[in-house]
Amino acid sequence: MENSDRIRNLPPYLFAEIDKMIAKAKSKGKDVISFGIGDPDLPTPDNIVNKMIESVKDPSTHSYPSYEGLYNYRKAVADWYQDNYEVDLDPDKEVVSLIGSKEGIAHLPFCYINPGDLALVPDPGYPVYKTAVLLAGGEPVMMPLLEENDFLPDLDKISKETADKAKLLYINYPNNPTGAVASEEFYKKIIEFARQHDIIIAHDAAYSEIGLAGYNPPSFIQFEGAKEVGIEFNSLSKPFNMTGWRVGWAVGNEDVIEALGRIKTNIDSGIFEAVQYAGIEALKNSKENIARMNEIYTRRRDLLTKGLNDLGWKIKANKASFYIWAKVPQGYSAADFSTYVFENTGIFFTPGNGYGEYGEGYVRIALTVKEERIKEALQRLKDSKIEF
Ligand SMILES: *Cc1c(COP(=O)(O)O)cnc(C)c1O
Repeated sequence: MENSDRIRNLPPYLFAEIDKMIAKAKSKGKDVISFGIGDPDLPTPDNIVNKMIESVKDPSTHSYPSYEGLYNYRKAVADWYQDNYEVDLDPDKEVVSLIGSKEGIAHLPFCYINPGDLALVPDPGYPVYKTAVLLAGGEPVMMPLLEENDFLPDLDKISKETADKAKLLYINYPNNPTGAVASEEFYKKIIEFARQHDIIIAHDAAYSEIGLAGYNPPSFIQFEGAKEVGIEFNSLSKPFNMTGWRVGWAVGNEDVIEALGRIKTNIDSGIFEAVQYAGIEALKNSKENIARMNEIYTRRRDLLTKGLNDLGWKIKANKASFYIWAKVPQGYSAADFSTYVFENTGIFFTPGNGYGEYGEGYVRIALTVKEERIKEALQRLKDSKIEF
């Protein structure tokens, strides 16, 4: 059977390959400590689980959900933006529910990209931006995220010709995989850039709630003019440890939200209503859950950055997200270093080149590991005598 051209050039999803490798080592009895997992290890908070149980028992949630998402869910998203960012959103026109933000991120190019059209995509970055553009027949143009620019794309380096031809631009702060954050100044600049070149900005805010040691990441939508030029994706996955539940949203520009909704209603049938009720509970009673989670990530970050720096590995603490982006010691590629560490210690760090060409030379270390295991990992690294 011959695959379509569309799928032929599609690489296997990076994390599926990594999962296989780790599973194989575990089956051979290796005690693996994986810092590769971009999925919270903590459970979904009780109030949300209890709301789910109650909602599942209500037969009215058992049929096909409404396509656009429950009004009360979209209203809860709008209220959350009002509370957190003082942003007004119309739940009917400026909010769409998503089956996790990945789904919306992947469908967006189908709304705006004709074959051959350009889309600007960060490198390193969450792999979905690029593959979604490719699946829609577009041409991704990579924007390098370099340490010297604090892992922000350098908009001045994008040629006028490319900028004028580009239809769509993805950004993501707090960033996966670099852990970088974006300033008010950057958001203002990108809004101006989008206006000048008529580009839709798609801001992926999956880590907006994961601010460490009191840092509070902004929303793209809170800046003046954002709603004219783009949308923001977010989801309950990372803030409420609900990655398996598949519930998210996009907010912002009315026309973009409408287009995304139109594509979706032709492909999926919305989110299980019981999950949406649980989502409303998550959004309404969020503050304590989020504060507790951020305390845990902050403690893990401090433990790990101190421990690794003590071993001679000069790494910087991330301000937000649950990722540390660490430069590999001289003489290794990212993949070589990752394999070397894994084989010698059973500790896994994700090689940065998996997130794009400009991720070469780095590994991503996820803080989704309990303190006790972080201590164990630090001890193993110390014993291994690996030179950093
Ligand atoms: C986890 C993640 C998402 C996707 O989350 P969903 O579970 O699909 O909502 C989106 N973007 C980035 C950068 C992520 O790390």
